[in-house]
Amino acid sequence: MTSTTTSAAANEFRSDTFTTPTPAMLEAMANATFGDDVYQEDRTTSQFQQEVARLTGMEDALFVLSGTMGNQIGVRLHLSQPPHSVLCDYRAHVYAEEGSGLAILSQAMVTPVHPANGIYMTLDDVKNWVTLGDDIHVAPTRVISLEVTIGGVVTPIDEIQKISEFAHAHGIKVHCDGARLWNASAATGHSLAEYCQHFDSVSMCVSKGLGAPIGGVLASTKQNIKQARWLRKQQGGGIRQAGVLTAAAMVALKEVWPTMAETHRKTKQLERDLAAIGVVPQIPVDTNFFFIDAARSKLDMGVLLEQCQKFHVRLMDERISLHHQVSDAAIEHLKSAISEAVRITKTLPPDYLPKRQPSGYGSTSKMNEYS
Ligand SMILES: *Cc1c(COP(=O)(O)O)cnc(C)c1O
Repeated sequence: MTSTTTSAAANEFRSDTFTTPTPAMLEAMANATFGDDVYQEDRTTSQFQQEVARLTGMEDALFVLSGTMGNQIGVRLHLSQPPHSVLCDYRAHVYAEEGSGLAILSQAMVTPVHPANGIYMTLDDVKNWVTLGDDIHVAPTRVISLEVTIGGVVTPIDEIQKISEFAHAHGIKVHCDGARLWNASAATGHSLAEYCQHFDSVSMCVSKGLGAPIGGVLASTKQNIKQARWLRKQQGGGIRQAGVLTAAAMVALKEVWPTMAETHRKTKQLERDLAAIGVVPQIPVDTNFFFIDAARSKLDMGVLLEQCQKFHVRLMDERISLHHQVSDAAIEHLKSAISEAVRITKTLPPDYLPKRQPSGYGSTSKMNEYS
């Protein structure tokens, strides 16, 4: 199993991006093949890509340097000439957190959608916001991008299917920002392929909960991946001895992915333990995130962040992020910090001005902090 006790990420609740390479990953990196992948001569990399293609049920896959690169290339593949637009959740990483990549790399307008249920986008939301037709005033929707998970929440697979069928009936492509699709699959038991059959392309991160040091992977049709290789090169993402990276990614798949269900179980247990002291989440806790609802939990976030320092756990805001390297001791320390913060918040004078305004996952400005 993974070495969980020695990682620098043992007390790290800010994000699952803080996971560190395991000893098995480092060993695999040292023993990787060193072919030049720009010439497609690296066996380790080809094997990794084939394995992802197999798992997703897609024709082909391409290792990319980051989830951002996978998303930007993935969406670009489906677009030809403006005017065109991409429809997605207003919190979507591809829109809100990729340095305006869609505007720059795809010349695309975005239709950001606030889901009516406040949690995830549904077919009704899509129908309300999609731009169809050839009215010259508008930028027709050419791509719908769905983020799964979003805020740790898993969009139900039948909703994904409905959106995909609607999109395809109108000639719209569907991209999945599946940075954490691994988590969705681990949480629901639906295979990656069951999800991916509804998408024209999917981008997944290997450096988040999966714990590899670098990278992501884009899966789609053979023809799309051929084009994606071209776009990746153009963006400076042609990697020479890519084997050192894909070897670690392969270990992440084999070694860490199977531990994700356990991470989710611990997050659920944390939810129950926090409920017992009146601390509740903003949105459902489906996978590895718990977004503290500071207002409803009567918790001052400034006080909490101070307590986290005292208890030697790292938190930056309302999002508690679990991953395979978080130690059980650190979870206990985090609960102590929260419990202490609840107690101290009660003692604050009624006219106390919070040092830090609680902000909800639903607030757009807040979203800039999350990756
Ligand atoms: C982190 C993240 C990405 C981008 O991944 P990077 O590897 O950080 O570029 C894309 N989508 C979502 C939902 C993410 O959380």
